This record gives sequence, structure tokens and C-alpha cells, in this order.
Amino acid sequence: MKYSIDNIDFKDKKVLIRVDFNVPLDKDCSITDDTRIKAALPTITKVIEKGGKVILMSHLGRPKGKVIPEMSLKPVSVRLGELLNTKVLMADDCIGNKVLQQIDSLKSGEVLLLENLRFHKEEEANDEKFASELAKNGEIYINDAFGSAHRAHASVAGICKFMDVCIFGYLMEKEIKFLGNLIVEPERPFVAILGGAKISGKIELINNLLDKVDSILIGGGMAATFFKAQGKEIGDSLCEEDKVSIAKSILEKVEKENRKLLLPVDGIIVDSFDNNAMKKVVSVDEIEPGWRFMDIGEATVKIFKEEIAKAKTVFWNGPMGVFEMDNFAKGTSAIGYALAEVTEKGATTVIGGGDSAAAIAKLGLKSKVTHVSTGGGASLEFLEGKSLPGIEAIKSKY
Ligand code: AMP
Repeated sequence: MKYSIDNIDFKDKKVLIRVDFNVPLDKDCSITDDTRIKAALPTITKVIEKGGKVILMSHLGRPKGKVIPEMSLKPVSVRLGELLNTKVLMADDCIGNKVLQQIDSLKSGEVLLLENLRFHKEEEANDEKFASELAKNGEIYINDAFGSAHRAHASVAGICKFMDVCIFGYLMEKEIKFLGNLIVEPERPFVAILGGAKISGKIELINNLLDKVDSILIGGGMAATFFKAQGKEIGDSLCEEDKVSIAKSILEKVEKENRKLLLPVDGIIVDSFDNNAMKKVVSVDEIEPGWRFMDIGEATVKIFKEEIAKAKTVFWNGPMGVFEMDNFAKGTSAIGYALAEVTEKGATTVIGGGDSAAAIAKLGLKSKVTHVSTGGGASLEFLEGKSLPGIEAIKSKY
């Protein structure tokens, strides 16, 4: 039988849940965005409702195997307590006898948050002994940390070897469903929109998606590497010289296999990397030396919007311009609104985490798209067709 949260009896069981509470903190260690904590609530609440004892584990930041008090999960335990409307207990560590004693004294429905997993270097090393120590903390293991699913770390991968019952949490199930549908049976036309700074890190994604989508729209800084591959002048625009030949081969594949890849036709260019720099809108054939491409222009927005409006499935990753600066955020906003509109008309729209998720949130459009992934890197690797250690470890138990 395939176990799931809905068919397992959690009554009085120690339920060890790997969550992604890697939240941003300000210099006073206050949480500036609690989205990731909220995303784990459905699973935690369900286990509480079914009478389980909840033991949570997560990483926070990059302490690299050292105890760094500023990277403690204590502020998260307080915020989680507010959201659950219950006291969340906090452990000083994530393994060891003291932690086991604390777990033994938990009552049904109580919640204990273990301290930052990455205070131990063995976590990122996927160390077997450490994984077996973590496994002692529970009788049932749930992985609900999609943001960490692409990491072969002890709490995500190694631990499953030492647990009898391993299942996905609701968030993981949701991510796998929406991202999986994109690759398996997307309703067509399927349009992918890719942007962001660089094409490195997205090359495999572009190659994999080219075979699956009806069209790919490219914006952001990475467009300039393609312009260069087409032999255009790109001035001081961001360009990965060592990736120009790859961009060229992608364009050749598009040509040869009759695929559809749309690059910007115009853009906002500036004479320095500054919100208040001198700017002008030009065709992409008119970028002058000393100027740089900062955002897609209105003509491009129009073409991209028409393509999106026809879609039944859309995947978007990466901003269309330097959206952190107000003067170059228009292209990204326009795409966000286009996605909201096509969702309203019945299309499935999926945002691949990271900066595009931040842009959608900033525009207040999160509830107007179908799914915003909580894992930037994880969602990209998923769509590249790679197998994710966090998913494989659970599947190996079925
Ligand atoms: P990524 O992490 O690769 O998705 O890149 C996101 C970053 O790309 C954001 O910080 C944007 O400011 C940046 N970006 C988008 N368009 C451009 C551009 N035309 N030039 C430089 N950076 C850009």
C-alpha cells in the first residue's frame, strides 16, 4: 500500500517532519518573510489533528557545521507557535540523548522544533551515522521540504534508510503534482518563460523544455548572451562569454527542429547600472557600445503577452529585467499580470520559485496564479528531468 498522510495512523506516534524553515532574517534575527513556515502548516496541522507528536527539523542559512547563534531556529519556533496558536517547544540540538528525552516526554499533539541541522557538518555530507542519529528522533518520517529536495543531505536522503515508514507531506505532494504535470501531460499550448541574470544554470532547463513546450520566451539578462550569439552588438550588457557558443547551439537546434524560441525585439537600455541612469528604448539591433540591456521593451511585452494569452499551460522562471529597480520592473510586472489573466481564463500557471516568485508576491498576484513553487533550485532541477534525492529516497521505500 502506498502510505500517505491521509491513510496513516499518527495517534501517539513520534512523527519526524523535515520542513524547509530556511526563512530570511534581518540583523536582529527577526523573520522578514514567513511564507515557508506557512507552507508547512497543512502537514503539521494534520499530524496534530490525528494525535501525533510532531518533531520538526530544518536547516537555516549556511552555518557550515558550526553553531552560529544568529542562525538558530528559535525565532521560527516563536512564529510557528503564533501561527499554530500553540506553544512550540525548542530543542538545543537536533540529535543526542537530551533531544531524545525531550521527544519522549512529548504528549500527543505537542510540537518540538529541533535546532538547525546544519550546525552539524555531517548534515550536508549526508553522513550515515548522523542520518541514523536523526532517525532515532521519530517513528514515522515525513519529508515536506521541497526547497531542499534536490540536496542529498542526511535529513533529506540518508535518513530514509533508517526509517520504516517514509512519506511525502502535503507541500511535497502538491509540488510534485504541479511540476510533474508540466512534464508529463501539459495541456497545450504550453509556454515557458525564462529570464534572470544568467543562462548558466538554466542551459539544461532550456534544452529539456525545448522538447516539451510549444514555445519558450526568453527575457532578462540571459537574453543578451543570445543576442551576442546572433552576432549583435550588446554594449555593456550582462553576457556570459563562455556560454555564447551554447546559446548558439540552442538557436541552431531551434532552427533545425523547427521549435519556437522568442527573444526580445526591443529593450530599455541605460548608460550605467543605476535606477536613475540615462535610459532609452531601442530595438535589440540598436544597442550601442557603452549601453546595457536592463528590461524588455513594450513591443516585446506585446508579443510575449499574445503568446501567453494563447497558452493552456505556462511555466515562468526568472525576471524579465532588473526588477529590483523600479525603472526596469515593467517587463516583469507585465508578465505577472499576463499570467494572472490567462489563469483566470482557465490555464494552469506555475511559477518556479526564486525571483519570479518574489515578483509575483510583490505584485500581490500569488493567489491569481495556479501554483508558486517553494523551491527555486529544486523546481528547476525537477524540470530539467533530474531525479531529486529527497523524492527518490521516499519512492525507494514504496
Ligand atoms: P536568476 O537568479 O538567474 O533568476 O537572476 C535573477 C536576477 O536577474 C535578478 O536579480 C535580476 O536583477 C537579474 N536580471 C534580470 N534582467 C537583467 C538584466 N537585463 N541585466 C542584469 N541583470 C538582470
